[in-house]
Amino acid sequence: MTEALFYTKLSENRTNCLLCPHNCIVDEGKRGVCGVRINRGGILYSEVYGRPVSLNTDPIEKKPLYHFYPGHQVLSLGTLGCTLKCSFCQNAEISQASGEDQGFGVKKSLQEIIVLALEKQKNIGLAYTYNEPVVFYEYMTYLAAEVHRNGMKNIMVSNGFINPEPLAKLIPLIDAFNIDLKSFEDNFYKKHSKSRLAPVLETIRTLSGSGKHLELTFLVIPGMNDSIDIFDKMTDWILEETGRKTPLHISRYFPHYKMNLPPTPIKTLEGFYHHAKEKLDFVYLGNIPESIGMDTYCPACKSLLLKRNGYYTMREGLDESGSCTTCHEKVINYMTI
Ligand code: SF4
Repeated sequence: MTEALFYTKLSENRTNCLLCPHNCIVDEGKRGVCGVRINRGGILYSEVYGRPVSLNTDPIEKKPLYHFYPGHQVLSLGTLGCTLKCSFCQNAEISQASGEDQGFGVKKSLQEIIVLALEKQKNIGLAYTYNEPVVFYEYMTYLAAEVHRNGMKNIMVSNGFINPEPLAKLIPLIDAFNIDLKSFEDNFYKKHSKSRLAPVLETIRTLSGSGKHLELTFLVIPGMNDSIDIFDKMTDWILEETGRKTPLHISRYFPHYKMNLPPTPIKTLEGFYHHAKEKLDFVYLGNIPESIGMDTYCPACKSLLLKRNGYYTMREGLDESGSCTTCHEKVINYMTI
């Protein structure tokens, strides 16, 4: 355990956590909504500091990031806990699990993780992913500083539910973000994730303005967030706030956790793909085998640039600097590390 950042002490040994927009008042001996920040004797602690439960080397395309060092690997790490309570969570075994049920994971010091990251082939750095990295903010930020000191990159895959001050302190440490946009309706966030839409939009707006690499993911759940009209509003907003070059991953839902609806029909995903492509240059379909929306094309001359087979990426009409070999349009800003 380590003392938490971003909290204040209240009377009677209570604490007020200010890390995410839940702003939990945590009584002595209790935990916040995320389940991994506990008040002991009037001090708030992170129980998942140095305690990863998942640690794997993944293709960067699995995060998903398609425009950030394509074809590379990234050591990926997650702990227990999440700030959201999504009934459809695709990673509930860890995100919704309590440390009291299964322990908080194996102890891994900052140095042990850095040594692992350095010895992996084609590894560009460290990704904070699997569960919501905001809940292990202290571990993530101390690790991220070490990763930078060793000349590697940091990636954060997040639901975007974080307060502005901790976000501002995090941005200089992270090189690329993938943020989930679960719906464009506040009611959806309230009902199915026990949270709110506005802070997530604010995070995306801030990240876009920061100049850091940003990709977005939208998980389509049949009957819950598959209204094409609302999706059109979402893509209008993306176009206006983050620009047409922001890669959007439209992902297929599979039944998990408390949700047993059937998987999203491929036709629905393809319909969303065509709608989004009218406004955005880079739209991809995820969690499906073969379909449209796998490869990257030049938005200027339409040449094939990157061909993907699962998580395997082949460079076609793209040069080493990330420009189209046909028309020289700059498409990928981050190529060889
Ligand atoms: S990080 Fe956890 S304890 Fe802190 S406000 Fe968010 S849910 Fe509550």
